[in-house]
Amino acid sequence: MINKPIKQHITILLVLMLLLCPAFLTSCTIPGVTPEPQDEAAVSLDDIPEFDGSLTIEINGNRPGFTDEELKEAKEAYKFFGDLDKHGRCTTTQASLSYKTMPDQQREQRGDISEVHPSGWHSGMEWERMHLIAWALCGENANECNLITGTHDCNFNAMRNYEVKTARYLEDNPRKHVLYRVTPIFRGKELVARGVQMEAESVEDKGRGLCFNIYCYNVRRDGAVINYKTGTVDVSNVAGQEEKSNDKRLYVLNTNTMKFHYPSCAGVQDISDYNKQEVKATRQELINKGYDPCGMCQP
Ligand SMILES: [Zn+2]
Repeated sequence: MINKPIKQHITILLVLMLLLCPAFLTSCTIPGVTPEPQDEAAVSLDDIPEFDGSLTIEINGNRPGFTDEELKEAKEAYKFFGDLDKHGRCTTTQASLSYKTMPDQQREQRGDISEVHPSGWHSGMEWERMHLIAWALCGENANECNLITGTHDCNFNAMRNYEVKTARYLEDNPRKHVLYRVTPIFRGKELVARGVQMEAESVEDKGRGLCFNIYCYNVRRDGAVINYKTGTVDVSNVAGQEEKSNDKRLYVLNTNTMKFHYPSCAGVQDISDYNKQEVKATRQELINKGYDPCGMCQP
């Protein structure tokens, strides 16, 4: 039998715990039920072979490492963005995605993310702010716990294929969920991730519709040498780099994303008139103003 004073103490303790609970929610976490991901599921760099030209490799036979409990909880949509670690780096992001978590791209414009400076970020180094969970999947945009410093190869040529696959599944199955986890993989205290692990499993059909566990290398295939400790990039080996003259020429600016393009770039068509600006300038002048060269046309 518990006597009365102890019972009262327990009650007070429970009330206090409930009151203090929001303090444990991180600034990045979306309020609501957000099951904590299993950190130990992340791949170790020791198990990742050296980059050999292929931007992605399968992990664990392409089977994601979700637990039965996580899959059960994923019948309801949620988003979890892990807190930055003590080095200011992103940690695990996990979501149960559904058609409803996707933004309406016809109506919703993706907002400005240029204010976010992920760990290792340097402007003028052709880095891209890379969403861990794509905006198109979860609607989460300028969240510092969802953006890392990434290469165009990793962002566009590796991750995007899997994001598109996931988006197609959700569009085709508007009542179903996909449990989805993206974990940036860092070596030691380095500020730029060596890669990202992407795991996905369609929940209601037990992975028959969609299932993957892959590692995307955060590298550049053009020979640029990345210093992962600091985020600086040495492009002196890059072929064609010397042709990037510093003469004044015509560029198109996107004043929202703070990118500059060659006028011929396909990306220019997507810039709204409001954010589009044509300038005659040198490359360096634009970089000095805080603009980054577009990863697609590589001006
Ligand atoms: Zn461009």
